[in-house]
Amino acid sequence: MTALQSPPAVTPAFGKFFLPGPTDVHPEVLAAMQRPMIGHRSRAMEELLERIAAPLGALFRTRGVVLVGTTSATGFMEMAVRNGVRERALSIVNGSFSDRFAKLVTACGKHSVRLEVPLGTAVEPDMLRDALRRNRVDAVTVVHSETSTGVLQDVAGFAEVVQEFDDVLLLVDAVTSLAGSPVEPDAWGLDFTLTGSQKALALPPGLALAVASDRMRERADSLPARGLYFDLVSFEAAMRRFQPTNTPAISLLFALETQLARIEREGGIEARWARHDAMRRRVETWASDRGVAYLPPPGRRSWTVSCLRLPEGKVAKDVTAALKRAGWTIGSGYGPLKDSTIRIGHMGDHTLAALDELLALVEGELR
Ligand SMILES: *Cc1c(COP(=O)(O)O)cnc(C)c1O
Repeated sequence: MTALQSPPAVTPAFGKFFLPGPTDVHPEVLAAMQRPMIGHRSRAMEELLERIAAPLGALFRTRGVVLVGTTSATGFMEMAVRNGVRERALSIVNGSFSDRFAKLVTACGKHSVRLEVPLGTAVEPDMLRDALRRNRVDAVTVVHSETSTGVLQDVAGFAEVVQEFDDVLLLVDAVTSLAGSPVEPDAWGLDFTLTGSQKALALPPGLALAVASDRMRERADSLPARGLYFDLVSFEAAMRRFQPTNTPAISLLFALETQLARIEREGGIEARWARHDAMRRRVETWASDRGVAYLPPPGRRSWTVSCLRLPEGKVAKDVTAALKRAGWTIGSGYGPLKDSTIRIGHMGDHTLAALDELLALVEGELR
């Protein structure tokens, strides 16, 4: 048995942790969590939730109420299913997280029809239209940026297709896209858009955030057995009054407020997208100059996680271990791609300068 450890009394290092979740948390955000507790039914809590409401709306590009829950992102995937699927959903599956979304549908006692494509590829809007013509469903589940393969799907295109059909909701996992690349719940017409704190938002894990459309709220209202913890109707009603539903992870809410202020200081969400755009382009240029292949095709690559194929004879765990010895962290592949790919999570608060340093080290390991 190893002994329990006290935290080291050093300033936390920042900038070398490129795992595609959890991501590196800036020291200023970590420090915000050292504030003393406030009561969850206190005026201070109400004021905190009121202060963050408008910046959260800006982050989600919505006029709706942004829900903040104490749960990992999977909890809000379950909220999407419990409140958004009446009987049958079409689940777009192209990796591990979209597979989880499909499994949640059946785990909640509803039917899931899978529209599945090979790992590393995306479903195109025309394929969704064909599938919706062939299958009567009342919702579609999709993962925008499939973190396991680095594929970014055309969610705006899916939304247009879904609107051609009557009474079909679009439920979107935007866990590694929101705050790192454009996600427009209102403008695109998404019915439920969810994320977690520990990916592109660069907070510690433990919070999930989401916004629902009017259609989604009406659907939820009509469904029995929504459960309690993830009941959208009462959750949203509480958030409108700046009340938490239960005792929230108060320290993480302090961190969230600090991070929202940092995003404003950077120049808002569009500046944040631009930085992520620059980082993913930097990896693309680096890879094409060196003949390193991507798993996803051009045009369907995530802005926050680059999934690269390793050259013949290289194994992901050797590459990640060598980087680790140099003080840097990246992800190996996921599931069946564990050995043959690596994943660089250039999301959150990372910079081009640090990414350049990392890429130079990766290059050394691929030779
Ligand atoms: C990380 C991740 C999740 C799951 O998040 P948890 O916080 O571990 O529940 C879901 N979807 C995507 C796309 C992710 O990257």
